[in-house]
Amino acid sequence: MFIYSPEIILSNIKTILQLFKRQFEYYYFMEILYAFLLGLIFGSFLNSLSYRIPIILNYQNALKDFPDLGLSFPRSFCPNCKAPLSAFSLIPVLSYFIQLGKCKSCKKNISISYPFFEILMGILFALMLIKAGSINYIFLINCLFIFALILIARLDESFFKIPFSLNLIVFFNGILINYYFSSLSLGFSSFLLCLAVLSAIKFLADFILKKDSFGWGDIILISNLSLFFSIYNLPFILFVSSLSGIIWYFFKKRNVLEKTIAFGPHIALSGIWLLFIL
Ligand SMILES: [Zn+2]
Repeated sequence: MFIYSPEIILSNIKTILQLFKRQFEYYYFMEILYAFLLGLIFGSFLNSLSYRIPIILNYQNALKDFPDLGLSFPRSFCPNCKAPLSAFSLIPVLSYFIQLGKCKSCKKNISISYPFFEILMGILFALMLIKAGSINYIFLINCLFIFALILIARLDESFFKIPFSLNLIVFFNGILINYYFSSLSLGFSSFLLCLAVLSAIKFLADFILKKDSFGWGDIILISNLSLFFSIYNLPFILFVSSLSGIIWYFFKKRNVLEKTIAFGPHIALSGIWLLFIL
């Protein structure tokens, strides 16, 4: 009998290809899962930073209550009773549901925003992996970009402030993405042009309205997005962030009597949206 008949060779090749495909799918699935878990961990870090940064930067004169609070020291604690969290309580999402959303020491409710932002970061990191194809440079740069934007959105929404250090991270991301995948000269010229135009508009608006029209944090953030995505995408950024801001303004107006809204979350939204559709 002739063993190596064309049919047998063909079927062997098919089997090998199928096995290969299944392996590939398995690894791909695992990578998405890893990205999701990485997102949960970053979400947990994000929660910790959005609690600590306002205290460290003294946004509400809170520094006197926490004279030696740093970004990573002391270890995480309950904001209410200050009891340090056990290693188990640090597990993202899971610990929240096992503890039924209550602190183990003082039984006070833990804000739902903690698991919410962890899951949100998990989903965004998993989606970014699907977009990037694997855990590579573009995945890492874009995930750091998402992390900084969501942190900016949270701080600006609560305190009307965008820390300069976070804007610097977005700027640094823009430099990296241009260095690896585009051109630094286009990126820099986009940044400078956007900064110049928006500053001119701000000075004019301040002069006409006789008050602070919009903050430098917003202007630098939009310029950083312009660096990241190039000036050609600036109309999209301005359109989406203004539209989202207007919708949010009318949505919020019914609940709170506020004259102004934080613009940072809407700029961040336009940046994250653009990241996924480009
Ligand atoms: Zn507590």
